[in-house]
Amino acid sequence: MDKSQKLYVGIDLGGTSVKVGLCDRLGKLLAVYEGPTEAEKRAEGVLQNIELYVRELVGREGCDWEQIAGIGAGIPGFLDMETGVVKASPNLGWKDVPVKAILEERLGKEVRIDNDANVAALGEVWSGAAAGIPNAVCYTLGTGVGGGIIIKNVLCQGYSGMGGEIGHLGVVPAEEAITCGCGQKGCLETVSSATGIIYMAKEAVIRGEQTSLAHIRELTAKDVLDAAKAGDQVAARIVDRAADYLGKSMALLSVVVNPQRFVIGGGVAKAGSFLLDQIDHHFRKYALENAKTNVDIVPAILGNNAGVVGAAGLHVFG
Ligand SMILES: [Zn+2]
Repeated sequence: MDKSQKLYVGIDLGGTSVKVGLCDRLGKLLAVYEGPTEAEKRAEGVLQNIELYVRELVGREGCDWEQIAGIGAGIPGFLDMETGVVKASPNLGWKDVPVKAILEERLGKEVRIDNDANVAALGEVWSGAAAGIPNAVCYTLGTGVGGGIIIKNVLCQGYSGMGGEIGHLGVVPAEEAITCGCGQKGCLETVSSATGIIYMAKEAVIRGEQTSLAHIRELTAKDVLDAAKAGDQVAARIVDRAADYLGKSMALLSVVVNPQRFVIGGGVAKAGSFLLDQIDHHFRKYALENAKTNVDIVPAILGNNAGVVGAAGLHVFG
């Protein structure tokens, strides 16, 4: 390895495992190392694990510690990015943990933190599906709907870190709205996340609608998407509704931040062009002409590595 090149370390902290990655200055992922989070050891123990994993990764790759120009971490929950304090992370059971200060003390490098959805978005903009696109919005369709907004190559965190929380755009009309995990009603996440899709499917089954989904015990969002692909009318209607609200949210964002590209990742997005084409159709139906011309919707390409790449990128897209 060229010992003169600058390298960046990204940390993707999850409830059960921690992934750490080493990137070059162009966002190319050179190596990863994964170990258990051991959340039961509380914040101090988890951060000690992270130090071990980072040192193991850097040592294993044979690069000098001096080459590390910065370390970033993507953490689920509500964060104060400026001070580097995790205000609350239900997944980890953390409250008011000064992650930046502790890791800087342990590792002797500047550490930046951001939430997991924002760093995943940054990863796709640095070296993924939106590489070279300075204005992009990334969606992560999983248990919830996460998001990240990048304007002129800067991640939009906003006044209190709530910038890019697009899963909580209130897009569902009051008469159809259900309560979201955030406490508000009608959030995008209530219809377009895996949880939302499963909820709509179960409701249809309970109403006694004719669908192949009635015969599946532990329904997943993939079951619903697969049934829709196979021609099940009820499943198709549910997927269309999820896609419609995603398209509507994009039309709204297109007149707020006017991105050139939307990137869609997360487990639900594995349905591929079947889902993307429907989202695209609804986006074009709702969006203003000048806000949709030459704007495209593409699948994420970094997969599970988006988090480590984007976390490392926090030092490049400051
Ligand atoms: Zn919400």
